Amino acid sequence: MIPYGRQEICEEDIEAVVEVLRSDFLTQGPAVRRFEEALNAATGASHAIAVNSATSALHIACAALGLGPGDTLWTSPVTFVASANCARYCCAEVDFVDIDPSTGNMCPDSLEEKLRRSAVAGCLPKIVVPVHLAGLSCDMVRIGALAREYGFHVIEDASHAIGGRYGNQAVGYCEHSDIAVFSFHPVKIVTTGEGGAALTRDADLARRMDRLRSHGITRDPSEMTQAPDGPWYYQQIELGWNYRMTDIQAALGVAQMKRLDDYVARRNARAERYDSLLSNVPVVRPGRCEDTLSAFHLYVVRVDADRHKTVFEGLRARGIGVNLHYIPVHLQPYYRALGLMPGTFPEAERYYSEAISLPLFPNMTDDEQNSVVAALKAELGG
Ligand SMILES: *Cc1c(COP(=O)(O)O)cnc(C)c1O
Repeated sequence: MIPYGRQEICEEDIEAVVEVLRSDFLTQGPAVRRFEEALNAATGASHAIAVNSATSALHIACAALGLGPGDTLWTSPVTFVASANCARYCCAEVDFVDIDPSTGNMCPDSLEEKLRRSAVAGCLPKIVVPVHLAGLSCDMVRIGALAREYGFHVIEDASHAIGGRYGNQAVGYCEHSDIAVFSFHPVKIVTTGEGGAALTRDADLARRMDRLRSHGITRDPSEMTQAPDGPWYYQQIELGWNYRMTDIQAALGVAQMKRLDDYVARRNARAERYDSLLSNVPVVRPGRCEDTLSAFHLYVVRVDADRHKTVFEGLRARGIGVNLHYIPVHLQPYYRALGLMPGTFPEAERYYSEAISLPLFPNMTDDEQNSVVAALKAELGG
């Protein structure tokens, strides 16, 4: 089976992990700080908070922005459930904004229209989470302008998009958002096994997220609400969690980050090769945006809805590990039970009825890619 995604682990990665295992610190040591510095260097953001998953990063991002009961978070229905669940952890409501069919990303026109209606009804969101689907940045200039006009915060779910670019900046720089979140799960661009990070240019948000990832505890006397008893002293000043990344994970991340540009270049080369190999095949290829470099976490084609399931099953039977990103979140039983209705986000549901993620990973061979294309042609021709 050719998988849809696969990590690349080099000897240097293994050596970096072994070095931590032989050192004094498996966690709360120097490797996490080094990984955060690598993330800052790659994105230009001034603060990076490394945690044990992107899900945790989304949670502390929402908590740091003060999301709570009575508030609402909006995200895209075409995403992994974590982009929405972060609101539920904070006891807030979730709603969705339909996608632009050409990219699968949150549609700024739909967002603007929904904001206009919600302003009249007095139910504006506190946070909007645009998701850079497949590694392609959303239209952050427009989303950022709407955030200023309607007074909401923006968390970019950039789980797919580290190494991508938007305009003159790296994704994660947060020019048009408060916080951006990355995932380091093995299928993503860079891996730490499990892991995530929240990036920001806001020092107060960074300090708050730093505390929240470790129980809400501070050792900084300037943050304490009562005088320290002595040099042993720490103070819990709010409720946080243990979302810390280990040094073992961070060392792997530091080693992987050295290959970030190479990974994204190789993914883009594979995507371009798919574009040309599929030019005469009856599928819709991924849309591109001007001045935007996709990190190409995924290469998603759209096929005729009538044949979608048989093509998908046929590809799996031929040993092609295709996948479907994503089942629209509002259709999940958990969200249906909260009152979200099928039919509400028609572009997202149409996307779901047509999308197939083809295998794409940096060390994919030409032969593997040729097999994928041959199998797809055979399925569509038959
Ligand atoms: C993978 C992913 C997440 C969650 O990442 P974890 O690191 O596994 O918690 C969140 N959002 C999106 C869009 C993802 O693809």
